[in-house]
Amino acid sequence: MSVLTLRALSKRYGRIHAVDGVNLTSGEGELLAILGPSGSGKSTIMRLVAGLEMPTSGDILIDGKSVLGIPPKDRNVAMVFQSFALYPHMSVRDNILFPLVARKVPKPLRQPKLDQVSRMLGIEDLLDRRPTRLSGGQQQKVALARALVRDPELFVFDEPLSSLDAKIRSQARAELRELHDRTGITMLYVTHDQIEALGLADRIAVINQGRLHQVGTPRELYMDPADLFVAGFVGTPPMNLLPIDDDTIAGLRPEHLRLASTASAAGDYALDLEVTVNQLEYLGSEWLAYGTVHSGLPEQGEPQQVIARLPAGTEPPFSTGDRCRFVGTHQDVRWFDRNTGKRKPAAVGAVA
Ligand code: ADP
Repeated sequence: MSVLTLRALSKRYGRIHAVDGVNLTSGEGELLAILGPSGSGKSTIMRLVAGLEMPTSGDILIDGKSVLGIPPKDRNVAMVFQSFALYPHMSVRDNILFPLVARKVPKPLRQPKLDQVSRMLGIEDLLDRRPTRLSGGQQQKVALARALVRDPELFVFDEPLSSLDAKIRSQARAELRELHDRTGITMLYVTHDQIEALGLADRIAVINQGRLHQVGTPRELYMDPADLFVAGFVGTPPMNLLPIDDDTIAGLRPEHLRLASTASAAGDYALDLEVTVNQLEYLGSEWLAYGTVHSGLPEQGEPQQVIARLPAGTEPPFSTGDRCRFVGTHQDVRWFDRNTGKRKPAAVGAVA
């Protein structure tokens, strides 16, 4: 099991800082996701790790040794891309064997590897087919088998599930996780999809504009976002971010914005808002209420919009157009510095 370290890693394209001083170390055998919006530098990090690009500055280490001088084919890093990039004119068998043939692995050693990986992925029956005759999910498995067959030290995935349709994506996600747990290979997984990162990864590194914002477990990112970017990016619908004064923004997850009549802590709330409900959505497993804040926040130009999430078990005790009192407890509200965007300690900025 290998440890990947990015040390002050930077890549510039002319004036664009695609990757800007990223420090990040994986755990041994960890599934580490890199999560960020489009253009945040995710693919550039992948290409740097695989050796397809050279950094402008900084270093990349595998098990403590710099790999910068090692060409891509000799870095034992297996990549699986968004488009599985299978060779259409070759059978599944030849696609999987290709990395071994390219590396001149002796013939007698190839068949046992082929058997092992095709069994592991459950694709023994597909070996004689052409990739064009496979479903998206099957193609993905073949791409994984081809990457696994060379016993990589490190797996690098660039949005490998995004071309699958939504139905099989969650299944493919579970299978990928299982494959990780079975092989114990350290995996770096790039995605812009926070649900995918939350569901799959041991830890997530959130990047934006080439900079690392936070590294943590899915729960840490969700419960304790380090700054306004992470707070707004992780979670659907996003955290309610409400300006309190010139220096402070209060953050509250939609499920933590509770009707005063149903909130458990009586009286002492960090946020106490009068809200007109503009829209109510039934989503099967939950209700979402969209509203406008009337009082409880300082007057600041445009009225603030909020979203509350309610369990689906019962009908909400209000209708569209009603005015309701919604509250947030001290325990649930997160405070942010409006100027730096960073988290502030608790218990400052509470609204009277
Ligand atoms: P992501 O994978 O998060 O969508 P990328 O790593 O592809 O982001 O890109 C990060 C930034 O670097 C973007 O602004 C992109 O336009 C720029 N960029 C990426 N590759 C190149 C390149 N080869 N030449 C110039 N700019 C590039």
